[in-house]
Amino acid sequence: MAQYKEKEFGQCQLLIAMGCLVQRYAEELMHEIPEVDGFYKVGELAPLLCQINGFAKLRSCVPKMDNTIYCRRKLLSPGHFAYLRIADGCNNCCAYCAIPAIRGKYSSRPMEDIIEEAKILAQRGVKELILVAQDTTNYGKDLYGSYYLPTLLKKLCRLPFLWIRILYTYPDRITDELLQVMTEEEKICPYLDIPLQHSEKSVLQAMNRQGDSAQLLDLLAKCRAYIPNIAIRTTLMVGFPGETAADFKNLLSFIEKAQFDWVGVFSFCPEDGTKAETMKGQIPDWIKQSRQDKAMQLLAGISAQKRAARIGKIFTVLIEELPVAGSPYYVGRCCYQAPEVDGVIYVAAEQLNVGDVVEVEITDSDIYDLKGRLIR
Ligand code: SF4
Repeated sequence: MAQYKEKEFGQCQLLIAMGCLVQRYAEELMHEIPEVDGFYKVGELAPLLCQINGFAKLRSCVPKMDNTIYCRRKLLSPGHFAYLRIADGCNNCCAYCAIPAIRGKYSSRPMEDIIEEAKILAQRGVKELILVAQDTTNYGKDLYGSYYLPTLLKKLCRLPFLWIRILYTYPDRITDELLQVMTEEEKICPYLDIPLQHSEKSVLQAMNRQGDSAQLLDLLAKCRAYIPNIAIRTTLMVGFPGETAADFKNLLSFIEKAQFDWVGVFSFCPEDGTKAETMKGQIPDWIKQSRQDKAMQLLAGISAQKRAARIGKIFTVLIEELPVAGSPYYVGRCCYQAPEVDGVIYVAAEQLNVGDVVEVEITDSDIYDLKGRLIR
């Protein structure tokens, strides 16, 4: 990006960095990247822009800065889907996580602000609205005294989206009310992302998280009882301090029982300033890597079976990419696949556009992806 400040490459006048990394490591970054003109915390950027010539129009947004900035933001996702932040921060204090220290306490956006932004996104042609927060299921507790995600979802479902997807839920807060709304509202994708991190009680306790494998399996069974075809995504962490060989073996057995649709497996990595950074029982890197590899191998087999079970089924598919040179396949997703993290569907077709919504019959599969033919 710094090259854009040089005349032969671009017209950049100021190079500004902001975000979580800046909030935590501004001093170090100033020394390491002198080409950057300014490092700003998230809320500091709008007032800065208002002071710069050429951004005069933004001055009008200062009195109502927060929601106006959200509503006027440039979409970094392709136009057919958009992430919608419903809250920021987290009260959960997982022992390995630096986010609460960076983003602060959980803070919900007022429902009317979210609806206003969603309406603008719908007007801009967004077909898939993806709700995000550090913990979407905690939405509204701080503002309205109870969990308001189901209420928010019902209101969002009145807007002209094809799909509404919920990411980053917290297992303890997946309520019957939420599952009931998911069954009632057709626009809500039968999909939940529930980062569980581990199955064993001792490891979860050390992580400052709740539950054990039996409770977590019960939760998955409850989700599937409400929504039989639901796709469940999770993230798991191996090599957390104190994780024994028996804990890991039990985690593998849990994975087999849980039959997740999508899983990301990470090795524990100590974050600066977290409780886990200095915990006893740190696991050597080679053991962490070996556990991650074993878990991924097991999951690949489960994933391949799950994908194969989709052959012959017909799905509504949102087209995301045109064929690359030499390939006959467009790339799309169905409601069981979130963008950027899950597999895709390769669609044999002609003359489609990005953002088209088509019906596809699945004809083939591999470990993570599907192939299909256009029905209509
Ligand atoms: S891992 Fe997620 S739930 Fe836990 S503290 Fe971090 S952001 Fe919050």
